[in-house]
Amino acid sequence: MNKSTKILLACICVAAVAAVVLVVVLLSKPAYEPGPWFAQGDDSVAEMDFETELNSISVMENTWDTALPQTVIHDLIQAHFDSPLPEGKTEKKAIVIGYDGCRTDTFRLLETSKRSAINLLLQNGGHAIFTYAGGANYPQKLLQKTSTAPGWCSMLTGVLSDVHGVTGNDTPKGVEPKTLLLSLVESGSVDSSAMYVSWKKHFSTDKATYRAEKDYAESNSIPAVYLRAEDDAGTRQNILDDLAKADCTDFIFSTHEYTDHAGHGSGFSLQNIEYVDGFRNAEAAGVDIIEAVESRPTYAEEDWLILITTDHGGIQKDHGGESFEERITFIVSNKELPLSLEG
Ligand SMILES: [Zn+2]
Repeated sequence: MNKSTKILLACICVAAVAAVVLVVVLLSKPAYEPGPWFAQGDDSVAEMDFETELNSISVMENTWDTALPQTVIHDLIQAHFDSPLPEGKTEKKAIVIGYDGCRTDTFRLLETSKRSAINLLLQNGGHAIFTYAGGANYPQKLLQKTSTAPGWCSMLTGVLSDVHGVTGNDTPKGVEPKTLLLSLVESGSVDSSAMYVSWKKHFSTDKATYRAEKDYAESNSIPAVYLRAEDDAGTRQNILDDLAKADCTDFIFSTHEYTDHAGHGSGFSLQNIEYVDGFRNAEAAGVDIIEAVESRPTYAEEDWLILITTDHGGIQKDHGGESFEERITFIVSNKELPLSLEG
């Protein structure tokens, strides 16, 4: 074998090895790297029957079978703005911190949280209740899909999809019935409202839920802002920027995709570290937001309603259906929560 043949063979060998390495790198999924809020034990949460999990959540003031419909969110916010200002307060404000697709069994993780918005509210006199998505509680027949658009729309309008018309993620709502973003402003209950999200289907696609509302607000110069960021970090920043203003928006509604994104990607399950980490990230962002509210220079004169909730749970890598895991949701509040629709 002459010298040039040897060099050629060596080159072929090197190229072959490089190609194999490249294929292996491309095929092997890198190990998931949890963020800084991942807690000890998060990689080994014991699997448990869902009902047993729900029954073990001691911070809830009701039981899953006495859960209220998620539409109660609408009524709570409306009632907050309708009620008289408490002594010493000069302005009412409210914020919804929505964790999209956050299963309620994530409450099992609260005990070990490093930074938790739910714990922050509960440790300062807050309240928590079970609610349900889908218009009827488990195991009754669903009245609407446990999907994102119908869920949030029911919370923002106080009615189900038979009235608001949002039966799925690509079924837009008309201007009517108006969400709290518009109704509170138009009734004079608030001076301004804002919706901070990253999910495109809220108002950023042709068939987006609130596209007509957004257009209506813009063409009628109504101070209701619909602002989409690229991701959850952007949503958080948009909220923090708003809260940093002397006269911040009176009613802020937001959704954060950490849990839903992880659930669709690799499973809605406490045995999935990506899902657990998604919850940890949502909770840490929630603390940033609540701390920004509470550190406002005018906070002492403001009467804030702070709510954390979710639109639906999930099972395997999806939701929309009638399973227990998809339907049970929750509300955590800095203020008292109703335990029945009358009370
Ligand atoms: Zn959702």
